[in-house]
Amino acid sequence: MAEDLLIVKNLKKYYPITGGVFGKEIGVVKAVDDVSFTVKRGETLGLVGESGCGKSTTGRSLLRLIEPTAGEVTFDGVNITALTADEMRRMRRHMQIVFQDPFASLNPRHNIEKILEEPLVVHGIGTPAERKKRVREMLEVVGLSSYHAQRYPHQFSGGQRQRIGIARALMLNPKLIVADEPVSALDVSIQSQVLNLMQDLQRELGLTYLFIAHDLSVVRHISDRVGVMYLGRLVELADSETLYAHPLHPYTRALLSAVPSPDPDAARERIILQGDVPSPANPPGGCTFHTRCPHVTEECRSVRPAFQDVGGGHFIACHLYKA
Ligand code: SF4
Repeated sequence: MAEDLLIVKNLKKYYPITGGVFGKEIGVVKAVDDVSFTVKRGETLGLVGESGCGKSTTGRSLLRLIEPTAGEVTFDGVNITALTADEMRRMRRHMQIVFQDPFASLNPRHNIEKILEEPLVVHGIGTPAERKKRVREMLEVVGLSSYHAQRYPHQFSGGQRQRIGIARALMLNPKLIVADEPVSALDVSIQSQVLNLMQDLQRELGLTYLFIAHDLSVVRHISDRVGVMYLGRLVELADSETLYAHPLHPYTRALLSAVPSPDPDAARERIILQGDVPSPANPPGGCTFHTRCPHVTEECRSVRPAFQDVGGGHFIACHLYKA
């Protein structure tokens, strides 16, 4: 069994809400509220949930692209939450991010060579000639050609731009890639090409992925295990096969019932959730899902269910299941 490359413990990211003439703090938005999980070396952990559930904030907080409010993140044996800003900058070469919108994340005034070279320049790696060689090699690795180095971001299609985004993340030979909705902005036909590329690269380079998406079918394709988030908290986490075949949490069951099945006999009955996702500025007490759950009880309204392993590494936060 591979060891854990990433251990996230009780991660929280709260944003203050200010108001009044003096801009006093009048509340907090709990974007990420006590999230814990691990990712093994060489594994892909999918993180899914509706927009605003805190999955992207989780990815950025654990990389310290935004500073977490509380919690501990251990990466490759190092507690990175205790590192100084300088130490963190050096550590970040091993932990890279691929963004959802490759166009917005690529500087339109720089050609691809300059964009891909930049991480090497920042970290003082290689001579100019070595850096240019690495750029050309990396373009080939992601299925582009070395002549693309002189072109500008607007000269590429969405799928090609995401390949460039992946190439940029790989320039420093990272161990972990946080892929934040990397295919959501792409056409369905292009999505599978980019997903296949990511899987090939994982095999060849031994990469570990935290793959964030709102679409359960996308995550299934690529993940070894999947975690489901709701209102800033993880509500279920299991290996992909178990999660898709035997989802336990009422929220996961509702999400999965909306995913079209290729096998009409195996099609699930659609579960329509009542109401909207409550505001993270004012989340319901107890189980945060209780305002929409078809199985709600009195206990659910007042007692927060613990996120616990109910057997075989299947974690769930719901009073219907006890460890
Ligand atoms: Fe539903 Fe209660 Fe389980 Fe929450 S704890 S998901 S409200 S049954």
